[in-house]
Amino acid sequence: MPGEESSDAQYERLKRQLQDSILTEYPNPDRVGCPGGNVLRGLAARYLDDTIETDPNWQHVTHCSPCYREFLDIRAEMKVSKTANRRAIAAGLAALAIAMVGAAWFVSQRRQPTTPERPQITELVYQPRIVNLEGWSSPRSENGKEPSAPIQLGRGPEELTIRLPFASRPGQYDVQLLKEVDQPLVATSGEAQVIDGSTVLKARVDFSKLGPGRYLLGVRRLPADWTFYPSEIK
Ligand SMILES: [Zn+2]
Repeated sequence: MPGEESSDAQYERLKRQLQDSILTEYPNPDRVGCPGGNVLRGLAARYLDDTIETDPNWQHVTHCSPCYREFLDIRAEMKVSKTANRRAIAAGLAALAIAMVGAAWFVSQRRQPTTPERPQITELVYQPRIVNLEGWSSPRSENGKEPSAPIQLGRGPEELTIRLPFASRPGQYDVQLLKEVDQPLVATSGEAQVIDGSTVLKARVDFSKLGPGRYLLGVRRLPADWTFYPSEIK
């Protein structure tokens, strides 16, 4: 249908409208009752979950245009430095992996000084795997669809290509594998991108220390809460 808006675009439009109205409707030139920069920083660092709604400081920020402006600026700043941090960590891990490969080669050389065999380099080989959450119907959904079968994962290093549910927004996502909520066994994060109309998240994970059994695959895009998908390692 022409002119029909995707739920993604609709969400972004509503969010922008809400932000614009807070930014204009509560001028507070004398900054009456403003909690100050430290409190704003604290709020910006917090996940925007339900508990924040009852915070009196948050109530103030959403009813004070200058505070809300500062809050949005801090959030934007944090996003940038978070990305920079993550890049530094990734570079550090890559250097560590190279160092470990070098050490393994060195050890194997010393152990067998006379054998002319090629050294065994212990390098992780990631098996590619597509995880399709696009048409996933969770037990929580009330659309009458049968819940989907558990997601099959392999025991070992895997490069997951996760096709996120329809109309998922691109951006930074967290991924966890767990048995109990809040006790991740494997955790990573990555940047989801829209490719050919699907939102796709690539994530490298190592499941080699996990035993066979049922797990939960947790996916979230901040500030949204986790969505858990029943999964299985055979
Ligand atoms: Zn204020």
